[in-house]
Amino acid sequence: MGKEIDVRNQMPGGNSKSNIKEFIARHHSGTTGGDVFAFLRHWIHVLRWFTGGYHYVILPNGDYQRCYDDNVITNGVGNHNTRTIHICLVGNGKFTAAQEATWNKLVKELKKKHNIPVSRVLGHNEFAGHRSNFCPGINMNMVRNILEGIKATIAPSATKEYPKLQRMLQLDSPFMRGKDVEEIQKAVGAKQDGVYGPKTEELVIAFQQQEGLAADGIVGPLTWEAINEGRTLKTVPSKSAQSTPATGRWATIQSTLNSRYNTGLAVDNTPGPLTKRGIVRGVQSELNSQTNARLTVDGIVGPKTRAAFINVRSGSRGNLTWLLQAALLFNGFDPGVVDGVNGTNTQSALKRFQRAHGLTPDGIAGAQTWSVLLR
Ligand SMILES: [Zn+2]
Repeated sequence: MGKEIDVRNQMPGGNSKSNIKEFIARHHSGTTGGDVFAFLRHWIHVLRWFTGGYHYVILPNGDYQRCYDDNVITNGVGNHNTRTIHICLVGNGKFTAAQEATWNKLVKELKKKHNIPVSRVLGHNEFAGHRSNFCPGINMNMVRNILEGIKATIAPSATKEYPKLQRMLQLDSPFMRGKDVEEIQKAVGAKQDGVYGPKTEELVIAFQQQEGLAADGIVGPLTWEAINEGRTLKTVPSKSAQSTPATGRWATIQSTLNSRYNTGLAVDNTPGPLTKRGIVRGVQSELNSQTNARLTVDGIVGPKTRAAFINVRSGSRGNLTWLLQAALLFNGFDPGVVDGVNGTNTQSALKRFQRAHGLTPDGIAGAQTWSVLLR
């Protein structure tokens, strides 16, 4: 392991503390170089945080900066910081052997010290609500297997023992398939065909709600943990059970999606993954009718849909603009009234969204912007 560089007395903030640490998060810096002092400029001056993002920063040569005591609450993963120790590897999806060696040694020490199981060593984008993040730029199942001493390469005859940690399952294009999907389907009472389709996802979401997990339809480490404990979905939700439809901004969007695109959403005024899928279905329908794109209206953004996106510019009006507004709102960038008119407020929300995601803030929703909005 590289040597420790103690920079704790040079870090700002660090006043909020929690002695219970249950997760270790892996990050990458998204840069090819730099160290905690370079990142600090961004955290403090741009993001206006009082405390930095990581407890440890592992440099390309394998040395690491110790930035905060483990009990400090830092700003690594929104909504998941209190009980998480954050470790960042400097790099952008590419890391040196020296860094990996330090990572393994450091994580093993922290796991032991705080009694954290390997299933709770997560990548940034494995935390609920952070799926769209590219961080940590590495396959975490491989990372965890290496931590467990399971070789990353293994003879085919031994593959049965290999997937000790299950892969992440989600509705994808093409659909994910396998024995692990069947296992999930069994737990949530879906037809056990080994194909992770929309119906399976719907039941997974209900299961996640029942278990108090983030209801995102993605079977990540925490959902697997619940399933491995033998938990099953008790009551299958029924759409007709809702007697009085909810009201509100999202309820209006949901019922409009239902009437325009036949999306069959529960009008609960709560935007979740199914509502987002409804928005995607709307976009696919509009692309089909406006540009004859011949997309399957499945609510999944695959390569064909990505290739079919068209530019929506300032001043545009209509259903696609309305869907753009709904997508912005879903992503937390409020376009004002969702009315299908691309005016000042929509432009402002769109540019803020683009800036926040490293896109050119030109106020034009093009292929790239659509892809990020709907992922
Ligand atoms: Zn991160």
